This record gives sequence, structure tokens and C-alpha cells, in this order.
Amino acid sequence: MPATTELERMLRGAALRVTRPRVAVLAAVHDHPHADTHSIIGLVREDLGEVSQQAVYDVLSALTGAGLVRRIDPPGSVARYESRVGDNHHHVVCRSCGAIADVDCALGTAPCLTASDDHGFAIDEAEVVYRGLCAECSAARSS
Ligand SMILES: [Zn+2]
Ligand SMILES: [Zn+2]
Repeated sequence: MPATTELERMLRGAALRVTRPRVAVLAAVHDHPHADTHSIIGLVREDLGEVSQQAVYDVLSALTGAGLVRRIDPPGSVARYESRVGDNHHHVVCRSCGAIADVDCALGTAPCLTASDDHGFAIDEAEVVYRGLCAECSAARSS
């Protein structure tokens, strides 16, 4: 996890005022990639004590809007957040426990998938959700 000074530098770099909730949320997302809002609220409360859900929602939306955090919405799952932004990577989702891991782009730059028909859109992003069973769930099934 980046040091607090590094997190503060990132906030200032994105023209966001440095506040304790913002630093705590950014730290939680860096430390727990693909965490959902509920877990992030828990982590921030461990760090700062009582913080309202709405405050955490507001911070997540500010950080996402500023491009410091990426929001992903896997179909059938609640929104997740991660600090790995700007590289258009994909995700593999476990069908059983919901675990999520990163999958690098096939070609490195966004979008790494060429649409067979772009319908005239200027496409700049493509996201694939791979589904299956994670290693732990596969092991549990076969034992
Ligand atoms: Zn699993
Ligand atoms: Zn990711």
C-alpha cells in the first residue's frame, strides 16, 4: 500500500482536497483490490471510527470521477472498486464465491478487442468478464 504522503499527493494531483475520509478510502481500495462498498465502509471505519455510509459513497464517487479509482460492475455482482486504473484490464469472476482477479489485456492498449461491427462508435474501451470457478472452489468441489 502506498504511504499516506503518496496518497495525499495523488489526491492533490487530481485536484481533490486532502481529507481524512478520502485518504482512508483510497488506502482501503489500494489495499483491497475489487472490494465492494460494504467492505470499504468496514475498512474505513476500522481506520477512522464512525463514518457515515453516505460519506464513503460520496468519496468513492469523487475518486472514481477523478480517475484515481476504477469502478467495475461485474454482471450479477455489486459494484467493486480498484486502484489499478487506465489500463483497460479485464476480470475473471468465480461463479461460486464471487472472487475476482485481474486479467491483463491481450494486446496491452485500450481497447484490446476489435468489435466486428463498431456501428460508427469511436470505441475506446472493451471489457471482458471471464467466468468460472476459482482454485479454492474447484478444490472444494473435487474433494
Ligand atoms: Zn470461488
Ligand atoms: Zn482489476
